[in-house]
Amino acid sequence: MFRLEKLIRPHLINMQPYSSARDEFKGDANVFLDANENALGSAVAENFNRYPDPYQGKVKQILAKQKQVNPEQIFLGNGSDEAIDLLIRAFCEPRQDKIVITPPTYGMYKVSADIHNVEVIKVSLTSNFQLNEDELNKAFEQAPKIVFLCSPNNPTGNLLQRDVIIRMVTGFEGVVVVDEAYIDFADERSFIQYIDKYPNLVILQTFSKAWGLAALRLGMGFADAAIINIMNKIKPPYNVNAITQLKAIEALNQVGKKEKMVHQILEEREKLIDQLSALELILTIYPTEANFILVRVDQPTVLYNYLVQKNVIVRNRSNVHLCEGCLRITVGSSKENETLINVLKEFKY
Ligand SMILES: *Cc1c(COP(=O)(O)O)cnc(C)c1O
Repeated sequence: MFRLEKLIRPHLINMQPYSSARDEFKGDANVFLDANENALGSAVAENFNRYPDPYQGKVKQILAKQKQVNPEQIFLGNGSDEAIDLLIRAFCEPRQDKIVITPPTYGMYKVSADIHNVEVIKVSLTSNFQLNEDELNKAFEQAPKIVFLCSPNNPTGNLLQRDVIIRMVTGFEGVVVVDEAYIDFADERSFIQYIDKYPNLVILQTFSKAWGLAALRLGMGFADAAIINIMNKIKPPYNVNAITQLKAIEALNQVGKKEKMVHQILEEREKLIDQLSALELILTIYPTEANFILVRVDQPTVLYNYLVQKNVIVRNRSNVHLCEGCLRITVGSSKENETLINVLKEFKY
């Protein structure tokens, strides 16, 4: 049985979080002299002299409607990378607790764990990039605090099996994080709908991919309010800046623009897959539900260096477990993809 009080690092339960001026007085007033801000304005054209909302209420209000959750079930962070870091900080005692990851997967789970001196148990995906349920259950006997699952998975591009994820959530006593950074490109529903049912499930999404807002650094976490409360308690007080909050609201009010871009990227992805299939040097094109394509070639590093020399940069993943021989190609604009294909057509070993 999942019990949050037994999972969270004990010293955090009674720890006093930072109390900002805006925590201590939340109402409206004429004169605010409580936060040592510059009342005159800013050294730029627009005014940014007031601290931003520490809990991003306006963003969450719109997001809650779109995602059909309560605002209390949403965490917003400086990229989803901040949420990953905070989850490890909340649950893992350095040099004592463990997390589970399923390589090949996103690199930040291990980096964050390493920073905090938290042991990482690696349970390899199977050769078709799916979860190895038996090995995961074995790893759970070591009582790890968190398992990070990435679906669609980076760098392989595929979705993890839905029923296996659900069995992880119900069978595992720790926290199950499902990182859905690429869910907008997938032919499958998000796991967000399950957060009401499973108090140990955390969904991560981001504004960095489908929304096209990587530079703003805004990541989303969806979970039971108890987990969100802990994340809010230990986060830096003003972790999402005012411009990011403003632009997020602007973006959420133009969800159609995001959907149009996603549609276009999916069209480009299919075109790119067709064109790559026609090339002899591409040995395998892995099925993708993301905005990138993993391909296997004969001499990945030779091809990678050739592309660099032609001013086309892809990601060399050939030294990644189970991705030997692989390059990861982000779906670009129609013109960029055309350049890639033309350059690949000219390649000779
Ligand atoms: C790109 C990516 C993210 C996004 O991180 P941000 O910090 O929100 O930019 C998260 N998870 C995975 C798997 C990714 O590929």
